[in-house]
Amino acid sequence: MTTKINKATRHTSQNEGLIFEKSSPGKRAFELPPLDVPIVDANALLGAHHRHDGVEHFPEVSEIEVLRHFTRLSTWNYAIDLGMYPLGSCTMKYNPRVNEFVARLEGLATEHPYQPQELSQGCLKVLRLLERCLLEITGMDAITLQPAAGAQGELTGLLLIRAYLEKQGNARKKVLIPDSAHGTNPATAVIAGYEVENIKSESHGQIDVDKLRDLVTENVAALMITNPSTLGIFEQRIPEIAEILHAKGALLYMDGANMNALTGITRPGDFGVDVMHLNLHKTFSTPHGGGGPGTGPVAMKKFLEPFRPVPVLVEKEGGRLALDSNRADSIGRVKAFVGNFGLLVRALAYILAYGPGVRQATEDAVINANYIRKNLEGVFDLPYELPSMHEVVFSDAIQKKNGVNTMDIAKRLIDYGFHPYTTAFPLIVPGALMIEPTESESKEECDLFIEAMRAIAQEAAENPALVKSAPHTTRVRRLDEVGAARKPILRWKPTDKPEGRLHHAHKTPHPEPTPTV
Ligand SMILES: *Cc1c(COP(=O)(O)O)cnc(C)c1O
Repeated sequence: MTTKINKATRHTSQNEGLIFEKSSPGKRAFELPPLDVPIVDANALLGAHHRHDGVEHFPEVSEIEVLRHFTRLSTWNYAIDLGMYPLGSCTMKYNPRVNEFVARLEGLATEHPYQPQELSQGCLKVLRLLERCLLEITGMDAITLQPAAGAQGELTGLLLIRAYLEKQGNARKKVLIPDSAHGTNPATAVIAGYEVENIKSESHGQIDVDKLRDLVTENVAALMITNPSTLGIFEQRIPEIAEILHAKGALLYMDGANMNALTGITRPGDFGVDVMHLNLHKTFSTPHGGGGPGTGPVAMKKFLEPFRPVPVLVEKEGGRLALDSNRADSIGRVKAFVGNFGLLVRALAYILAYGPGVRQATEDAVINANYIRKNLEGVFDLPYELPSMHEVVFSDAIQKKNGVNTMDIAKRLIDYGFHPYTTAFPLIVPGALMIEPTESESKEECDLFIEAMRAIAQEAAENPALVKSAPHTTRVRRLDEVGAARKPILRWKPTDKPEGRLHHAHKTPHPEPTPTV
């Protein structure tokens, strides 16, 4: 079966062994000038047992071999700079190069956190300005920039809530979490010492407000809500939800990782949220993925402010800025120094470059998601029909009839030159396809994506085996993801049987020449 492929895909013959396997004795990538200093007796100096004449199995390769090896490997990764990265929930938007330029400016990149504060006024001003921008965007009163990820922001937020309630005399026992929440939310609540009570969504995918009213007791510390939810749906009754909680002395925590759908349009502080985190690495663009780097500032209402992590950025007389660690009610530190400074700089560069235009970025993100939704509706099953915000969630229900599931479709998408969407999340949609194009994509790129998804749907109907055995154009086929997680091989060791070494990586037999690994 021939496949029409509209996008540049990776070189099918591309293959690369480990650098150890390229080694041949005596090759080297450097030449030192003859020694012109007296030879010391290393044995006498260090003791013979510290001395090694060589590192066993250390690769011996030439300069061009080193260069090509790492250059080839660098082309194996998929990146936002190569094409659309519709990984729902992750907001893989374009990272403008000006952010990188600003973060590398001398005076920002070379400062040291132990520098005296009088000599760090510029850096502290950067932080101050970012705090102001984020407070304006969220409609909140105070903020900490310290947490290094969304999940750490959640934990910080819940610790603020706990500290506040404790000070009132009762930390309470439970945190309520809707079933559409991100997996980090329940994990966070447990780590913060709370019991989690799940709230089932109503049939349209929104929080069940009547059920919520029954569940909010004097024992509930907070509701953690993601808005828009992981279904990409805005919680339309959010002010009422806030009132229900506040009437019982409970607080409203908002997971703000989806602020890409709200920025410049509406402010959580205005619709009743008490505390929230932002994912600057998502909404305000940082190259992220593979576990980092991140930054998850927490914005809050005034009554939570005394509990902020130390040090707190304060303004002294004459506009001098200082870091204040002398705060009796603080929950303490959650991260070294002031947080991931380089990322905070990038986020500020992004926000200032857009200015009020940040609203258009939001609108474009929402338009792109809805454009894709409209063009794939009917081709893929849409389990919840309320308007989509910045992402759209389909299910594999139609393709499942032919035995093709969301993972198969995602793998086939790789053959069409796209990074897969998020599979099997959120959990309330069985076989979910979660698609978030972000505002970065042009109509042309969205069209290519739509075409690819339609083509795959047709393949799933006519030739399901083709989709089930995808990807076909990559160096390796289906990876044994469970095996890789449970029994990872993290270190190369010389062996007599090189074929056996990476064997578990291939679940399906490789039809192309076997790689030399
Ligand atoms: C990404 C995300 C998180 C977690 O953020 P990390 O920076 O990965 O810790 C939490 N909630 C939602 C909705 C997210 O999309």
